Amino acid sequence: MSSQSGAQGPTRRELLRAAAAGSLALFTADSASGSDRRPSAPRSALPPLEGVLDVIIIGGGLAGLTAARDLPIAGNDSFVVLEAQDRVGGRTLNHELRDGYVSEAGGQWIGPGHTAIADLARQLHIDTFKSRYDGKAVNRMGDGYFEADADGGVDVDESLVAKFDALAEEVPSEKPWTVPRAEELDRMSVADWLEKNGGTPIDRLTWQFSSILTNGTPMTNLSLLYYLSMINFAGGFVPLNGQKDGAQETRFVGGSQLLSIRIAEALADRVRLATPVQRISGWDGPVTEVHTPAGVYRAKQVILALSPPLCQRIEFSPVLPKARAELQRRWPAHGPMAKTAMVYDSPFWFDDGYNGQIASVDGPLIWSFDNSPPDERFGVINAFMRAAMMPSDHDAAMRLVASVYAETWGDDRYLEPLEFHAHDWGQDPYSITCVSPMPPGLLTSGLMPALTEPVGSLLWAGTETAEIWNGYMDGAVRSGHKAALLALHRLASAGAV
Ligand SMILES: Cc1cc2nc3c(=O)[nH]c(=O)nc-3n(C[C@H](O)[C@H](O)[C@H](O)COP(=O)(O)OP(=O)(O)OC[C@H]3O[C@@H](n4cnc5c(N)ncnc54)[C@H](O)[C@@H]3O)c2cc1C
Repeated sequence: MSSQSGAQGPTRRELLRAAAAGSLALFTADSASGSDRRPSAPRSALPPLEGVLDVIIIGGGLAGLTAARDLPIAGNDSFVVLEAQDRVGGRTLNHELRDGYVSEAGGQWIGPGHTAIADLARQLHIDTFKSRYDGKAVNRMGDGYFEADADGGVDVDESLVAKFDALAEEVPSEKPWTVPRAEELDRMSVADWLEKNGGTPIDRLTWQFSSILTNGTPMTNLSLLYYLSMINFAGGFVPLNGQKDGAQETRFVGGSQLLSIRIAEALADRVRLATPVQRISGWDGPVTEVHTPAGVYRAKQVILALSPPLCQRIEFSPVLPKARAELQRRWPAHGPMAKTAMVYDSPFWFDDGYNGQIASVDGPLIWSFDNSPPDERFGVINAFMRAAMMPSDHDAAMRLVASVYAETWGDDRYLEPLEFHAHDWGQDPYSITCVSPMPPGLLTSGLMPALTEPVGSLLWAGTETAEIWNGYMDGAVRSGHKAALLALHRLASAGAV
């Protein structure tokens, strides 16, 4: 990583003063807790369907909707999707920008190996384009600035990464708790490994960023076994963390939420919005009852396309087996992050030799990056922010983010955004968290088989259950396909289809 004393400019105090004095342009009226134009799918809670369905799918995110799309393709029309919110997409959500463009508030990138979601997008006629990352990035630590030009890769000590990648080859992501050294590797945090293997302060910084960005937690809290399993499915530390040939390479034209919107439009009133599931009863019998404020739905199979902490909010009768209940209770759901989008009249940072990226170990900003539309008709910088340090007031949040940009790049133009959007995922009651920051010890606690093991009529889906790319949109799609196949198989075995 090259280093030099960085961008000079006004102090944060001066910038905040200027911002408060009103030099900021007008922006859209979204609240800090989110901007989301509703998809053109059914909006209100409809009365329940009569009779006993073959399948109820709970959750209209990528996992649930992929499962729902597969059922009629396989000839089964006896199903419904129950979605709590009045929109589909779950952890994918588009901020609507000017001229019909969008910027993603949630999941946005795919990369090599994300073949399931890439395939789904092709089937839905949704194009992709590459993110732009040419130019210098700025790394911030307190008052220090370091500039680096990694050209979409990750600037790391290659021998250290080679050692880490070699260890990851021992840890396939499917059932990592079964590998021979599982307990030893799960006892350690990523920080412990680095400590033992002689990482320099710069290495520690790179690993720390990686841990916070991929898992929303510092590396002292992240299980080494879990992180190695991620490195394994990505094919290495650099492809997991990088943009060029990496997991952060490619975006969808129209934004990632468009996949869910297209599927929901095709399924029409099979997708019931604003229908939160509160209780599930009789899952140990032939007909399961799914209770919502709009009434009770009945089915032979139920796919829960939800993260374990969201399942934990549903009441089950009879109560779930001990291991499943315990897993839901202990599942880490604390990756507190907000994601913002700041719109400018052009992506002028590229003209100045910067790529829009700031990575910061402290302060409110975690990582910013260019998120301009493919034709760059205006410029967008998105950022992951430390939610606890973001003001809840929309204007104050905008001024804070703008001041960090202006201060870092020493340029007052950043104080004049055209639009600002923010979404705090920790405050989103139907997401709770972006990712699952697995702490040391949980993978080898003996509870993990309960993540996917069906319980009576209940089948578990959602990205967390995927064998590869769990935590990612690709994992969500894979889990949806698998759950649909399993539901069809169980119906067929019972002679129901
Ligand atoms: C800020 C952020 C950035 C990310 N970046 C990336 C990225 O760049 N690339 C990538 O691949 N992934 C990324 N991800 C992760 C990715 O978005 C998720 O892995 C994926 O969208 C999860 O899909 P899912 O269907 O499994 O779950 P969800 O999207 O969480 O879907 C669950 C659905 O269930 C609904 N629901 C919840 N409770 C109930 C209930 N009781 N009754 C009925 N419905 C209910 C929810 O409203 C939601 O629609 C990111 C996520 C976030 C938040």
